[in-house]
Amino acid sequence: MKPIPQDPTFVARFNARIDRSTGPLGCWEIALAPGEDGYATWSWAGPNGERWKYRAHRLALTLADPPTSDSLYALHECNNRMCCNPTPDAGHLYWGTAADNAADRDHPFRRWQLRNRRIRETGQLDLFAAIRVSVATDLCPRTASSSHRVRSVRSGVSGVERPDHE
Ligand SMILES: [Zn+2]
Repeated sequence: MKPIPQDPTFVARFNARIDRSTGPLGCWEIALAPGEDGYATWSWAGPNGERWKYRAHRLALTLADPPTSDSLYALHECNNRMCCNPTPDAGHLYWGTAADNAADRDHPFRRWQLRNRRIRETGQLDLFAAIRVSVATDLCPRTASSSHRVRSVRSGVSGVERPDHE
């Protein structure tokens, strides 16, 4: 991978492209068009006018947790190639070897087993449950307003005439 420029706007502009609205455990997709292989490429103007190109998911993981070797692969546990969520043990990106990469591709079930083992070993199951509860709580206002709207329509309070199934 190309070196990461010292220019602080590099990281800021890259981060601004990542949609984190799904919450800490969700897939964070990058707002770039996927390439033919399904992965997004982030490009940056290099010092001599050339474009420096980065695999977006690899760059996201590198910024959060620099690899110990260039031979490591940034792998997706979530199988979403546009995902750039580098949060440790959140089930999205992790560093793996070439063998991990092949095994991951050929045996998706293994990915699930690895994830479960990591969660067990790090004892983060309770933390995950706590985050899910807080995410569910955030959704409450939307649910409330939607049921309120349904009630209003049913009782003829609202002027909305469009049927719900449209
Ligand atoms: Zn993901």
